[in-house]
Amino acid sequence: RAKMQQRTGHLYFSRSMGIDIRERVNMMHALRTAFEEKQLFVVYQPQIDLVTRAPVGAEALLRWQTEDNTMISPNRFIPIAEYSGLIIELGEWVLRQACQELVRIQRLGFSNFMMSVNVSQVQFRHPHFLGMLRKALEDTNAPPHCIELEITESMAMEEPDALIKLLDQIAATGVSIAIDDFGTGFSSLSHLQKLNVDRLKIDRTFVMEITDSSRGSSIAEMIIQLGRNLELDVIAEGVEDERQAKILTELGCPFGQGYLFSHPLNPDALHDWLSHHKQH
Ligand code: C2E
Ligand code: MG
Ligand code: MG
Ligand code: MG
Repeated sequence: RAKMQQRTGHLYFSRSMGIDIRERVNMMHALRTAFEEKQLFVVYQPQIDLVTRAPVGAEALLRWQTEDNTMISPNRFIPIAEYSGLIIELGEWVLRQACQELVRIQRLGFSNFMMSVNVSQVQFRHPHFLGMLRKALEDTNAPPHCIELEITESMAMEEPDALIKLLDQIAATGVSIAIDDFGTGFSSLSHLQKLNVDRLKIDRTFVMEITDSSRGSSIAEMIIQLGRNLELDVIAEGVEDERQAKILTELGCPFGQGYLFSHPLNPDALHDWLSHHKQH
């Protein structure tokens, strides 16, 4: 059964996504057109200090709103962008947008504000990734130590030697690295220890399942403990209610992000939100 699933894995994937080949090709064209016609935009979800509730940063998230006002989820179109190669251009554009937005926010007085940007596997493995990053920082004047790249746990596990080198080169620019959706992959702890990364991002599914009764055995708690042992920062994503925020805080998780604090916001709404959440 496992063998058969493996063989037909691709089919399973496309069926479960509800996207057949024709649909995928159509979407590829539509996405390119949307990009050219500026129907793509970036929203920013605040990240907060769980103890003080002060804003510390934001994550840039890509949005696609079609002409008839339908929103298409990045979970659907990012794989298409990766498949078609458009992600290279698109990813650079998102990074530059995020850098420019960071500069604006810092000018509003949030001088230590951090900006997190998701990076796809395809971008990360591209030979010009590092050059692209350096150029984007230079052109936008964004302070590198306030930029964080989010890579996924599976990306952090491939080709160890090349990865270790790339992470060191990124660290040399001043930019930091977070491992996104942490806990959903299969990273080996000994490997993790060798990587020049700065932060673990607890996946939303583990935040959803923390309850008072699971205390001491929850995956979220283990990740917080792991962060402490490896001297990595930890942020919880998908915090939706006060109970989760309370438990995470008690477990010593320093940072949080989720609908409880704010949904992703367009720049104007973010500036407005920030003006009501000034650091004290
Ligand atoms: P992610 O990086 O793990 O981003 C977190 C996702 O969780 C976002 O979904 C965000 O809107 C959502 N979220 C935040 N707080 C909550 C909450 O409290 N509850 C729930 N239910 N959801 C919450 P979004 O924006 O739909 O993005 C989905 C995924 O698409 C992202 O997951 C990321 O993997 C990818 N993505 C988004 N923008 C980009 C991008 O610019 N580049 C790349 N490569 N990937 C992107
Ligand atoms: Mg992310
Ligand atoms: Mg995530
Ligand atoms: Mg996630």
